Amino acid sequence: MRETSPAPTILTWVVGPLQTSIYAIACTRTNEAVLIDAGGQAQTVLKDLKDQELTLKAVWQTHAHIDHIAGLPEIAQASGVPVYMHPDDMPLYRAAPQQAQMFGFAALGDLPPIDHDLSDGQTLKVGDLQAEVLHVPGHSPGSVGFYFKELGLFFGGDVLFAGSIGRVDLPGSSIEQMRASLERLKQLPDATQVLPGHGPATTIGQEKRYNPFMQGF
Ligand SMILES: [Zn+2]
Ligand SMILES: [Zn+2]
Repeated sequence: MRETSPAPTILTWVVGPLQTSIYAIACTRTNEAVLIDAGGQAQTVLKDLKDQELTLKAVWQTHAHIDHIAGLPEIAQASGVPVYMHPDDMPLYRAAPQQAQMFGFAALGDLPPIDHDLSDGQTLKVGDLQAEVLHVPGHSPGSVGFYFKELGLFFGGDVLFAGSIGRVDLPGSSIEQMRASLERLKQLPDATQVLPGHGPATTIGQEKRYNPFMQGF
């Protein structure tokens, strides 16, 4: 008999003025979880994890835009877990106070240091679950997605949305890089579920068929 591992636990919160989706994914054997983007509602996130008896092990940042890091000071201080981010988003991270002003966010507390640099192709683990880091710049220089190949799941931050893509007109954005990143995402299996930083979940196949930006722009 072949054992199949049980489906992971995935929690979703929609937080802040830009309606940012943040996620936790947990291994159901070890009850270890990671938070994908600490965008806000830190106390709710920590309470919900605790209520589900999940142990937070890390925060993995898809990128350093304010709506994805606004909860990080509180989360890091309360949990003490390490924070992972791609180094190419460090300039944005350091400019968090200006970003807050630009997008009408309240002033942030002290942002924690980034403990681990993410890089393309890197393997990350949470319990029995394994993710590959895909560096998919364009929306921001250090944008990454977390690809759980065995689960057919892709947490993509603000690269690809249902029917749309992330903005490419912000400081550090690049249309050229975005095009290359989308080409790369087209190579993922059609059935791959995409859990984006804004809006509803979709699949790679769905976006290849109906998203005009996947057709080239
Ligand atoms: Zn963004
Ligand atoms: Zn966003």
